[in-house]
Amino acid sequence: MAGNIKVITGEMFSGKSKELSRLIERALIADLTVDVFYPVFSSRESSRDIENRVAELTGQLVVMGVTEGRANDIVQLMNPSADVVAVDEAQFFTEDLVEVVKVLRHQGKRVLIAGLDLDYQEQPFGCMGSLMCLADEVMKVHAVCTSCKKSDAFISHRLTNEADQVVVGERNYTALCVECYDRIMRIKRERTTDYQTA
Ligand SMILES: [Zn+2]
Repeated sequence: MAGNIKVITGEMFSGKSKELSRLIERALIADLTVDVFYPVFSSRESSRDIENRVAELTGQLVVMGVTEGRANDIVQLMNPSADVVAVDEAQFFTEDLVEVVKVLRHQGKRVLIAGLDLDYQEQPFGCMGSLMCLADEVMKVHAVCTSCKKSDAFISHRLTNEADQVVVGERNYTALCVECYDRIMRIKRERTTDYQTA
């Protein structure tokens, strides 16, 4: 089998992990061996979404958490004969995930990657941009905007005021379209200005 890379990306609540688990299920039905990796951190809660989603699937499947998202560990942990290597929450892995993914494609692996495209400040998240360039296929998925409930969302808008790039927890975010995001950010800025001039 010739190696290839597929990236599934979009904002939070867009169904990335759901699509990833669908592709994993297809691979298992085809009797392929699948290794799944997601990042786990000692300092904060980790998403076990993909682990929960594939829990019911049967076949040659192994799901592993990678400590602190150290991408090089994937090479150590994976079954060398795995046909498919899936990576969830790829935006939280170290930058060397790009090199790891390149090597896997040359080894003939089918690499499936799911991750956030943008952080809450509209910046490319981690090495997702590079992974999208490398990919043979990129699939963008979208949530419905939670404000107008009609347009496609484009960003995971942070509901709290923390300034770190990473604040984990679905409860801290909502999916917004461009128009609703602009409107909400304008209101936020006006409130800050009012406060500063008061
Ligand atoms: Zn909207």
